[in-house]
Amino acid sequence: MELIFREQSHRRLNPLTSDWVLVSPHRTQRPWQGAIEALPASERPRYDPTCYLCPRNQRAGGVRNPDYQSTFLFENDFAALKKDAPCAQLDVDGKGLLVAETEPGICRVMCFSPRHDLTLGTMSLAEIEEVVRTWTAQSRELAALPEISHVQIFENRGEMMGASNPHPHCQIWATATIPDAPRRELAGQRNYRERNRSCLLCDYVTLEENLKERLVVGNEGFVALVPFWAVWPFEIMILTRRHLGTFPELDEREIRELSAILERVVSTYDRVFEVPFPYSMGFHQTPADQNPHPEWHFHAHFYPPLLRSATVRKFMVGFEMLGTAQRDITPELAAERLRSLATQ
Ligand SMILES: [Zn+2]
Ligand SMILES: [Zn+2]
Ligand SMILES: [Zn+2]
Repeated sequence: MELIFREQSHRRLNPLTSDWVLVSPHRTQRPWQGAIEALPASERPRYDPTCYLCPRNQRAGGVRNPDYQSTFLFENDFAALKKDAPCAQLDVDGKGLLVAETEPGICRVMCFSPRHDLTLGTMSLAEIEEVVRTWTAQSRELAALPEISHVQIFENRGEMMGASNPHPHCQIWATATIPDAPRRELAGQRNYRERNRSCLLCDYVTLEENLKERLVVGNEGFVALVPFWAVWPFEIMILTRRHLGTFPELDEREIRELSAILERVVSTYDRVFEVPFPYSMGFHQTPADQNPHPEWHFHAHFYPPLLRSATVRKFMVGFEMLGTAQRDITPELAAERLRSLATQ
């Protein structure tokens, strides 16, 4: 019997992670009686004297920001990782029950702009290109350090995602080990390459471009789509069309095209419910562990929590904590909605 995605409950496989997601399209009809989130304040000033990321302001700890004009980087004043952590390992009974080890690393904060009120959806393309160039320089510098195996660039936007400050900024965490999410994606891409002698995400992009139903927006260098296995209602992946692994491998044209597609994706999100769309986003680059990784394909994930309006969010609770992730609106319907807003 044929599976009808729009009508029948089914589960879908994420070949990158081997996780499954349960899709229950009929549940979108049920009434909502759960939590309603407060709307974020919509108007922000260009400069906020109380913001610790604005130019010339003092940060906690007493350091004063320079009068920066473009992007601005500093070591996190409250870093989750320390560079000079002494090397130590623990396995209390030798059977792997109580295992721990030190994790040396580097945590940086990067402001996208001196303007407190801008976002990747409202900055000019030239300004976003400067952000991409800074990501490239940081990736190159941190990946070259012998003690670093992974460089994670990520942005948390919106109070709903726990962002402590609305000033446009991201974080860059470089770690001695490869964290869980990219480690699983590495295994998925490696297995696929061994089985098929081709790249998982190259093949995936080709397939989605033929089918078209999950595409959101694209240009010569990149494609943005709602992945077949998306967990979050309006989840998006941005993928390079060319097979490459890291920021430093992007050519000049691709830097411009990545900037353009980032602007399109974020400004499209902001039109879904007419609010600054909260999300966690980040780039997955080839691990920097000195091993060759021909299987790795450069991409970004956007994980936004909003479900039905600016005030109704998705929670990962209950069956999702104890069983597997679940979604109501199908990825195809989400893509259709995003696509119609992206071309406005
Ligand atoms: Zn600010
Ligand atoms: Zn590829
Ligand atoms: Zn990934």
